[in-house]
Amino acid sequence: MTVPNPETEKVHIAILGSTGSIGTQALEVIKAQESNFVVEVLTAGSNADLLIKQALEFNPNAVVIGDKQHYTKVKEALSSTDIKVFAGSESIAQIVEMDTIDTVLAAIVGYAGLESTLSAIKAGKQIALANKETLVVAGEIVTQLAKEKGVNIYPVDSEHSAIFQCLAGEFYNPIEKIYLTASGGPFRGKDKAFLAQVKKEQALKHPNWEMGAKITIDSASLMNKGLEVIEAKWLFNLKHEQIDVIVHPQSIVHSIVQFTDGSMKAQMGLPDMKLPIQYALGYPKRLKSDFPRFDFMKYPQLSFEQADTKTFRNLALAFSAMEKGGNSACVLNAANEIAVSAFLNDKIGFLNMSDIIEECLQKITFIKKPSYDDYVQTDSETRQLASLLIK
Ligand code: NDP
Ligand code: MG
Repeated sequence: MTVPNPETEKVHIAILGSTGSIGTQALEVIKAQESNFVVEVLTAGSNADLLIKQALEFNPNAVVIGDKQHYTKVKEALSSTDIKVFAGSESIAQIVEMDTIDTVLAAIVGYAGLESTLSAIKAGKQIALANKETLVVAGEIVTQLAKEKGVNIYPVDSEHSAIFQCLAGEFYNPIEKIYLTASGGPFRGKDKAFLAQVKKEQALKHPNWEMGAKITIDSASLMNKGLEVIEAKWLFNLKHEQIDVIVHPQSIVHSIVQFTDGSMKAQMGLPDMKLPIQYALGYPKRLKSDFPRFDFMKYPQLSFEQADTKTFRNLALAFSAMEKGGNSACVLNAANEIAVSAFLNDKIGFLNMSDIIEECLQKITFIKKPSYDDYVQTDSETRQLASLLIK
């Protein structure tokens, strides 16, 4: 599969999860870069109104609404256009095979994004990956398949994009270590007594980034960093001892690579997801943009501190799941998805999320070398157990 050169040819993009935080920002990037990109496919979960609005504006070849009950609404709203309309998660997994797609932006949240990402890789499409859960759940299968198919996975996650940018021109130089930066989220410096009382409204206020609800809670609990550690292991083929996390409250240094001569490279910029989205879609070119520029005088100090894994146990749980390997990270992810949803529905407290994840990690049967079906089974068993623990 040849990668279209954004300098001479337009890149035809399918956005899976176009109605989400990453999806809508990707459309802003594409709108500002009309001469480089074409929207080929848009998919949503259940936000039919926004999908219709996006379809009318960007005129894609096809749209898919995941939730079938909204099919008629979308079909009728687009009846005066040539846009093809499909529904259901199986259609999302099928549409990515379309010949006219060059790059698939995987921006569905959670395990729900796994099947469509795998099917896009099987079809030989280049992947711009926002959906980190895909690599957390089944990193070995996903990266192996990408290798077989000659598919590049371009990271959209800002920390991984930073590392990828630092690696440009260094692909034959071994990495000694990477430092993933973490803002520390809204509860940085707080103790367990405080965390036991926090409400979702507080957890949903991230100091530096505007994101979907699930990743915002993950950021507050440091699970997001835990998932990113595992994502980094698979993206950059690292051992667990080569990955470290450092808290950097200003979110200006997006991550750091240390090479075997001791030299370190970091990528910096204002916290704005449009930049890593554009880099992933436009790679290898840096497209000119009018994103706000960094002003040193507004940030006279950049600071760094150690992550508090005793209070924020999710990060420690993620590191141990990564070390254990097998289906452990799949268990971690599924338990976390159920726990976050329960927290968002006021069913459990903030600290209970770690309790549930830990118990699932202890109780779900360990599989050393899982197949795809084993992951599907592990995900479903873990969700059942986590749901039981919540009741
Ligand atoms: P959002 O919740 O804002 O958006 C999720 C998108 O996925 C929506 O379009 C939603 O559709 C769709 N979706 C959800 N469930 C399903 C489903 N079962 N089937 C089909 N589509 C579904 O999430 P974000 O944009 O914040 O995050 C997306 C991914 O990117 C996550 O994996 C996250 O970790 C990662 N990421 C996000 C960052 C950010 O800044 N937001 C930064 C780095 C990574 P609908 O709303 O129509 O139901
Ligand atoms: Mg990130």
